[in-house]
Amino acid sequence: MKFTAAILETLDAPLVLAEIESQPLECGQVLVRVHRSGICGAQLNEIAGTKGPDRFLPHLLGHEGGGVVVETGPGVTVVKPGDHVVLHWRKGNGIHSKPAGYKWNGRHVNSGWVTTFSEYAVVSENRVTPVPKDVPFEIAALMGCAVTTALGLINNLAQVKIGQSVAVFGCGGVGLNVIQGATMVSADPIIAIDLYDHKLAMAKEFGATHTLNAKNCDVAAEVRKIVGPAGVDVAVEMTGDVRVIEQAYALTANQGRTILVGVPRHDQNIGIHSLPLHHGKVLTGCEGGDTNPTTDIPRYMRLYQRGKLALDHLITHRFPLAEINTALDKIRAGEVGRCMLTMDPT
Ligand SMILES: [Zn+2]
Repeated sequence: MKFTAAILETLDAPLVLAEIESQPLECGQVLVRVHRSGICGAQLNEIAGTKGPDRFLPHLLGHEGGGVVVETGPGVTVVKPGDHVVLHWRKGNGIHSKPAGYKWNGRHVNSGWVTTFSEYAVVSENRVTPVPKDVPFEIAALMGCAVTTALGLINNLAQVKIGQSVAVFGCGGVGLNVIQGATMVSADPIIAIDLYDHKLAMAKEFGATHTLNAKNCDVAAEVRKIVGPAGVDVAVEMTGDVRVIEQAYALTANQGRTILVGVPRHDQNIGIHSLPLHHGKVLTGCEGGDTNPTTDIPRYMRLYQRGKLALDHLITHRFPLAEINTALDKIRAGEVGRCMLTMDPT
């Protein structure tokens, strides 16, 4: 089948929009028509080569989507044609297939076990989870990473107790959901920090008790004013900026937890005072909030359907796939809550 996809051909350059061709499905592979895809900071990092040289170029991108199963390969039992699904990057139930490959003008294009910046995608069975058909594709897409990473972080990594303080550095799609998750477990205070007032306004809607614009205040002094000199119980860092990571760690209480979601460039290091780590302070990275999509997505979907998980206002920008490079520039500028790619007009 031939369809349009955004291809990462060269690091640090615009994505190439082109027609590619999928190959016959192999064991455990699923062909999905992608209706919506979120854009996550992880893709900006991939395009920029944050982790270093990329030996898979050219390749496809994207790891949170909502779509409909078109065809299933041999052995697939988790989904069937016609099912509405979340496309996610964490492993769920089902076969861990070979990653799909595509043809592009005679060249081979790589992909991972899931990609979503295309009209169709061949993904591994363990990267799709069925959802009810009345769930909007955008909400399904958010369940692929932004929501599951954030709520998993609160439950599994932060282990926030009722009344503990939380500070969130960076209020994009994941940060806003971390704030929402912190609210759901009765954290207090919940401090949102960002460079844009409109994102801080969204943070308030999602439950932040205090907001700080880092452009025009001394964040460290203000956080200590709010939570006291000991620091916050949980600091969550979204930006990947090494100075912000250092600040988040420094502002974490001696028995508290600093959780890193943002990833700095491979050639940048952080400097921290490590002694408190010997006495119970925790510094850890987040990998999708240790989410298990098979069990967690249906749980969160029920909360959404019962009006207990507010996701409808999370999406601040929408772009057709053809305008993906404009969308990426908007996100790089830091102005966006969550940006959605729309592959169909509905
Ligand atoms: Zn993501």
